[in-house]
Amino acid sequence: MSVFAGIDLGGTHTRFAVMADGAFVLSEKYVTTDLMAAGPKLAGVIARYREVADRAGRKPQAVGIGLPATLDADRRVVLSAPNVDGLDGLDVVSLLEGAFGVPVVAERDVNFQFFHDMKASGRTPRVALGVYIGTGVGNAVWINGFYTGAHGSAAELGHIPVPGATGVCGCGKVGCLETVCCGRWLKGWQERNAPDTPIADIFARHGDHPDIRNFVETAAMSVATAVNIIDPELVFLGGGVLEMPAFPFETLKTRLLAHARAPFPRDVLEVRLASNLGDSGARGACLYVAGKFGTVQ
Ligand SMILES: [Zn+2]
Repeated sequence: MSVFAGIDLGGTHTRFAVMADGAFVLSEKYVTTDLMAAGPKLAGVIARYREVADRAGRKPQAVGIGLPATLDADRRVVLSAPNVDGLDGLDVVSLLEGAFGVPVVAERDVNFQFFHDMKASGRTPRVALGVYIGTGVGNAVWINGFYTGAHGSAAELGHIPVPGATGVCGCGKVGCLETVCCGRWLKGWQERNAPDTPIADIFARHGDHPDIRNFVETAAMSVATAVNIIDPELVFLGGGVLEMPAFPFETLKTRLLAHARAPFPRDVLEVRLASNLGDSGARGACLYVAGKFGTVQ
C-alpha cells in the first residue's frame, strides 16, 4: 500500500490529509493558533501529525507541507510568513524530516492548491497559471514544475504595482494589486459604501456599481498580464471572492481573454474555475509527494 500525507498550514486553519493507494482516507482541520501555541519549532503540528498518521493506520512514506509563506530557493527555509507567528527563519524540511523520519517537501500553500486543481482537471499541461483571490491574492506558475524564480520568490502577482493605487500592502510596499483587488478591499468598500449589505452579497446587490465592475476589470487585467508573460495552456481562477454569490466569472473570463495576446495564448487558452474544497491544499500536498516519491504502478 502506498500512503502519503499532506499538511496545509494556513493563517486560520491547518488541515491534514492522508491518501492511501490513490484515495483520500482522512481529512482533518485544526485551528492554527492552537497548534502554534503548543510550542516552538512546529511542536503542535508535529504532535497532531503523529495522531493523524496513527489514525490512518499506516505510516506515510512522504509528507508534503504547504505554508502561507515565501520560501528560499531550495524550498526548505521560511523567508517570511506574515500571517503565522513562529515560522520565519525555520528550516521546515530539516525539522520535519527529523521528526517524521520520511522525506518532506515544503511549498507555498497556493502551489499545492493549484497542483490539486491541475490533477483534478485530468490535464498535465506544460505551462499553467493559477490565481486565487481570497483575503489576499495567491498565485502559482507551473512551467514543467512549480516556477519559483532565482530566489524562491516568483509568482507574486498580488504584489505587482497598480497605477494610481496608494494603499500600503501587507508586504510593506505601496500600491500592490492586493491593496485594490482582494477580499480585504471588498470588505473596506462594503464598510464605506454599503454597510447594510452583508459582505457575501456584494456582487449580488452591487455588481453593477462602477467600483465593483472596476474590481473585476482590474482582476482581469492582472491575470492577463501573467498570461501574456508565460503563455499558459490552462488557467485556474478561484479563491473566496470568486465563490461569492453572483460573482461574474464569465465577465472576468471574457475580459481576461480580451486582454490576452492573439492568436496565442488567447485562442486556445482554457480558463477554469478552481475547486472550492476546503482541503484542496492538503490534498494537493499528498498528490505532489505521491508523484515525487511514489512507485510507478
Ligand atoms: Zn504587496
